[in-house]
Amino acid sequence: MKMDMKTYIEEAESVLLHTYNRYQIVLDKGEGVHLYDQNGREYLDFVAGIAVFALGYHHKEYNDALKAQIDKLIHTSNYYYNAPAIEAAKKLKKVSGMDRVFFTNSGAEAMEGAIKAARKYAWLKDGAHDHEIIAMEHSFHGRTMGALAVTGNPKYREPFEPLIGNVKFAKLNDIDSVLSQITEKTCAIILEPVQGEGGLTPATEEFLKALRKVCDEKDILLIFDEVQCGMGRTGYMFAWQRFGVKPDIMTCAKALGCGVPIGAFLLTEKTAQHSLTSGDHGTTYGGNPLACAAADKVLELFEKEHVIDNVRRVAPYLEKRLKELMSRHACILEHRGVGLMQGLVFRQPVGPIINRAVEKGLLLINAGPDIIRFVPPLVIREEDVDRMIGILEECIEE
Ligand SMILES: *Cc1c(COP(=O)(O)O)cnc(C)c1O
Repeated sequence: MKMDMKTYIEEAESVLLHTYNRYQIVLDKGEGVHLYDQNGREYLDFVAGIAVFALGYHHKEYNDALKAQIDKLIHTSNYYYNAPAIEAAKKLKKVSGMDRVFFTNSGAEAMEGAIKAARKYAWLKDGAHDHEIIAMEHSFHGRTMGALAVTGNPKYREPFEPLIGNVKFAKLNDIDSVLSQITEKTCAIILEPVQGEGGLTPATEEFLKALRKVCDEKDILLIFDEVQCGMGRTGYMFAWQRFGVKPDIMTCAKALGCGVPIGAFLLTEKTAQHSLTSGDHGTTYGGNPLACAAADKVLELFEKEHVIDNVRRVAPYLEKRLKELMSRHACILEHRGVGLMQGLVFRQPVGPIINRAVEKGLLLINAGPDIIRFVPPLVIREEDVDRMIGILEECIEE
């Protein structure tokens, strides 16, 4: 029996742990860049399930690939090989230029693996247990204990301390604040090449190059969290490729499976040779045939459908329209971001604007209390941008 949305929402609040303040709609299906609630109401989607659904909803070839895999094999464990994992890893290696892939179930779990690899790398050198990690203020790396420990938002960390120790926070794009915290014990520097949750701030070319240099000099591992900014979002497959500053370890997730939960951490051969080895790390589900069939098809479709070309075409248009909007409204203070990962900083909390947008059939997401984040499916068109701007402007004026 199909219940009405209100009843569903009441039931949800009686069974689900209340860790989210959800919008009052029950989403039912999707088509292209639109989602539909249970009453059939259409929403233009500028969230993409938080930068996940890059290819747009109800993509026939993607759906067919998943259906075919379901009928063949869904799970095997990592005690055996499976073809989708091998195919997906080969493609990921090719587009990233990294050498070794470990598949996980989420972005946070990919960060856990990256942190473990860095700890092991340092431990193999001196056997010590007091290695330090430098992360960035305003960063976001996930909600598990290790990923949380390197997340630069005290509000998320505090109730759960002690987390893993020896983490220091530096200022993004301020190389002196990093250099002044490096010691003999520093084993890794972790950052998002473009910050997501923390407010859409891109790392500068100069900063990334300076980090690479000091990491090379001191044999410190440079870890890039590409969970949100990776997979084409910035107009490059991975955001670090904008400036050619290659990490030693990289994480990836969100758009990798386009909705089927899968993440990965990737290592250069040298890092892999001197870190995690047999027995050091594992996962039951990670890299299973169903999830990897999704990632494999996503990577194939990115190439076949020229997804990144579309990002490069539409992103400047989105930027132009957002900046025009800013020039018309004094309540907008700043534009940030690159590619289809942009944000507007408001003078006041953006919650009420986003709520009004939902009522008018537009899904938006914040990044912190006063920033609206624009992370649409990577297949959006100029006319979708125009429609979004039209609705957003009405919401601001109200
Ligand atoms: C979302 C996100 C994560 C965590 O990913 P989950 O799949 O939610 O665990 C980590 N890093 C960044 C940059 C993210 O945006």
